[in-house]
Amino acid sequence: MASLVTSKLPEVESYLSEGTVPGVVGGEDWGGSGDTVFQSCDPGSGDVLAEVHAYTADDVNRSVEKANESFKKSGWATLAPNDRAVRLHRFADLMEQKKQVVSQIEAIDAGKLPAQALGDVENFVESVRFFADMAEHVQRRNQLAVAGHEAWTLRSPWGTCGFIFPWNFPVLLMGWGIAPALAAGNTVVVKPAEDTPLSSIYIARLARESGMPDGVVNVVPGLGSEAGAALSANPGIRRMSFTGSPEVGRLVGESCGRNLVPVKLELGGKGAAVVFEDVDVEETAKKLVGAITFHAGQVCCDATRWLIHKSIYDDFIDACRQEMQRVKVGYQLDGGTTMGPVVNSKQRDRVLRYLEKGVAQGADIVVPGGPAEVVGHKGFYVKPCLLSGSLDNVAAREEIFGPVAYMTTFEQESEAISLANDTDYGLANSVWTTDLGRAARVAESMIAGNSWINSHNVFAKGVPYGGIHKSGMGGGVNSIETLFDYWRSQSIVRPL
Ligand code: NAD
Repeated sequence: MASLVTSKLPEVESYLSEGTVPGVVGGEDWGGSGDTVFQSCDPGSGDVLAEVHAYTADDVNRSVEKANESFKKSGWATLAPNDRAVRLHRFADLMEQKKQVVSQIEAIDAGKLPAQALGDVENFVESVRFFADMAEHVQRRNQLAVAGHEAWTLRSPWGTCGFIFPWNFPVLLMGWGIAPALAAGNTVVVKPAEDTPLSSIYIARLARESGMPDGVVNVVPGLGSEAGAALSANPGIRRMSFTGSPEVGRLVGESCGRNLVPVKLELGGKGAAVVFEDVDVEETAKKLVGAITFHAGQVCCDATRWLIHKSIYDDFIDACRQEMQRVKVGYQLDGGTTMGPVVNSKQRDRVLRYLEKGVAQGADIVVPGGPAEVVGHKGFYVKPCLLSGSLDNVAAREEIFGPVAYMTTFEQESEAISLANDTDYGLANSVWTTDLGRAARVAESMIAGNSWINSHNVFAKGVPYGGIHKSGMGGGVNSIETLFDYWRSQSIVRPL
């Protein structure tokens, strides 16, 4: 594990003092054609970190043209898989060398604790290496045994793939998204969230520095309603991947549908944790409080509905109260902080509004949340919060995206399963018990993309991760299927 750096690194200082930050298109730093800029802030201090060029729709369309040109002419798409893997490994190695820099940019731009930001960069590196190696070994030509014919299928890259990302995990999600697309031989155009564009732009510069051909990795900064909408409506992209809210996901899906562009949507969640009576109460409370306070609860797959067996409910509540008292809300770079800020004032107000509405609809307050003051920092802080009561409550049904969990009790296994499944979302749930037979049964009965046993937020390269229903569609990330998503399949036949 690398040591953590908490004072600003010279490379970070220099990046932030360059002036208005441009995107990266066709291998060049490009400020776009207009003079509109937006500000990216440090959520922990509220200070402006940098001004960034806001691309117009025309700028985005031009960027897609550049990526298409690179797909056709740079040789990236036609490189032998082992040669492409070499280039991707160079990119991953450079990212690894620069991980302190990238993770610090991420920590201050997204309000992450340094250790968490570093973990995200390491995850990016792993994603690139994982898919680079996999693409080298997967057979792209498959001979078919069909009487009277010589026939085979061939997998080829699609062309330019568009990506739109949210602000909660800019580096990690960019790795999950673009690594398989690049390994398959596509070019990419990435639209980062306007709250957190700085790490993605820096990563595109590193891709260039590592020797990736111009136009293979493009980053188009801008506002969602302009740059994001233009990217999703561009008929020149061959595949689209969107990670973000269901509301915007629908818009992106509609635009892609009009152009018949395949789209992958990774959306929000309202996951359940089902806790049976045979668990170690303190240990389980510690892990669930750890999950809901990780990155201030701004995690799509979090367990936000905790279904606790009635016989341990009181003990569980006591253990959770104690754990929550240990949470130290503070500036993300300050040592001792265990939970940093939420991303902006809008998000803080959203969390606080949900608490008010939940209580107004009858929720009991187990651990009071509310705004948190951090001495010396004007950023956007909230306290962790636990509510309880009937799940027929807005705070138990809608995604809050903050450090807020909602608890209720159950007595029967079947009751727990039906409570867990009573949601429009379908991203990730967990079951907690020492009875592994019961664990597997409940895990298989929960209707979502992912079921975790005795843990929450479990990710391993090779295990598919994705959502269903209001949590997403079109395939997930992190597995061999993800790589196949970035190849089009073609049949080739000769009658004998
Ligand atoms: P958001 O939907 O508001 O924004 C996501 C991205 O879409 C941003 O880059 C934004 O600029 C862009 N955008 C906004 N309007 C657009 C438009 N009209 N057309 C195209 N793009 C547009 O989401 P957010 O607030 O940034 O992120 C939080 C949401 O993301 C939560 O719902 C969370 O659950 C979800 N999320 C899901 C996953 C997953 O893997 N399923 C991972 C992380 C976050």
